[in-house]
Amino acid sequence: MDTYVPWLALNTYPDDILSTPCEEIAEVTVDIHEFANDMTQTMYACDGIGLAAPQVGRSIRLIVIDCSKDATGLKHFVNPRIVASRGTRQRAETCISFPGLKLRVSRAIEVDVESLDLKGNKTIYNASGLEANCIQHEIDHLDGITFLDRVSRQQRRHALRRWEKEKNSYHTTSEI
Ligand code: ZN
Repeated sequence: MDTYVPWLALNTYPDDILSTPCEEIAEVTVDIHEFANDMTQTMYACDGIGLAAPQVGRSIRLIVIDCSKDATGLKHFVNPRIVASRGTRQRAETCISFPGLKLRVSRAIEVDVESLDLKGNKTIYNASGLEANCIQHEIDHLDGITFLDRVSRQQRRHALRRWEKEKNSYHTTSEI
């Protein structure tokens, strides 16, 4: 019998796990491989371009991304760390943990990321454009930071008010 469950439950704001810094992964075990696969399935199922472990219930330093349009850009990063960054630019972002919320966030244009791959080998990856944004967004999740923490207090207040209102109107509509 197939016991594989591809869909992991999502943790959405204001779940405490989203504001808690994650633990380093000591060893890339079979369990980490399986969880990375489940995260990948979940990301694709959500039409996402990136997902961090705490968004699906585990406070460990693991992210997956795929910024391609045809599922050819899949990458996993274990214990990722930005070791160099260049330039800054604002770009609109969304987040699987805040369904329906869009915020303009300032990020580095290009980053070098040091991490382990799923074989446990140390790698340095150079990312630019959308991929650089995505990696910075996901690494923030590992540090207990969401994109709400990357905008001004006033923008945060406006965004949350608008988001709550839209969520409520969605509920009202779907209950009818
Ligand atoms: Zn996110």
